[in-house]
Amino acid sequence: LVRIEGVHKFYGSHHVLRGIDMTVRQGEVAVLIGPSGSGKSTLLRCVNHLESISAGRIFVDDHLIGYRERGGKLHELPAKEIALQRRNIGMVFQRFNLFGHKTALENVMEAPVQVKGQGKAAAKRRALELLERVGLSDRANHYPAQLSGGQQQRVAIARALAMDPELMLFDEPTSALDPELVGDVLQVMKDLAASGMTMVVVTHEIGFAREVGETLTFMDGGVVVESGNPREIIANPQHERTQAFLSKVL
Ligand code: ATP
Ligand code: MG
Repeated sequence: LVRIEGVHKFYGSHHVLRGIDMTVRQGEVAVLIGPSGSGKSTLLRCVNHLESISAGRIFVDDHLIGYRERGGKLHELPAKEIALQRRNIGMVFQRFNLFGHKTALENVMEAPVQVKGQGKAAAKRRALELLERVGLSDRANHYPAQLSGGQQQRVAIARALAMDPELMLFDEPTSALDPELVGDVLQVMKDLAASGMTMVVVTHEIGFAREVGETLTFMDGGVVVESGNPREIIANPQHERTQAFLSKVL
């Protein structure tokens, strides 16, 4: 479903992604780990073209993301077309970026109504279903400030799912949470994985990587150092840098 081919990214002269290749099959859960500054967030942001790329190509569902190719050259797509591509890709960030002046229900209904032009009654029905799925039926009319971090993050997941994406990107969804709230969010992600969703998850939760991840990719310094079966990599990392990283987070 996702093909990342030879992707480079510069911020000015800072070479942040140095030739990334990665594929994620339909229904697969790909976990991405690596030290701070290794380029994990940048890579995720490139996948839905929140960042432009300096070289390479990213395909989601065989669509070239962010660009049109003409005469061997890539031209950035107009904003409207990028927005269309993004509808298909849900993203959940470290910091729950909910609309503070809207209730949980209104947050989840927002995009289907505003972006897809879905009727309010249908959007509400669907939003209530999604809130139930993330275990928050009883919090539909609460505002973000009245919810715990873990609850807010589950609303953020429901909100991303409301657009019926075929791919979900998670950027350290639990790392801003108090430890006792992490489990509920991971459980929601686990259920989502079991439902067949294709997911790319940046996380330091090695337990999640081992249990739910189908592939584990270790990045360092803008390159993929090692990628493969999570259990094998965790039990027996081949590279010194992977060993060093894992010994710190395990
Ligand atoms: P962390 O685990 O801390 O979230 P990360 O692996 O997600 O790290 P990135 O956020 O992708 O790392 O950052 C990779 C590098 O790119 C870092 O050196 C960072 O300083 C740099 N960088 C990220 N965003 C920008 C930006 N908007 N402008 C310039 N440099 C940036
Ligand atoms: Mg990051």
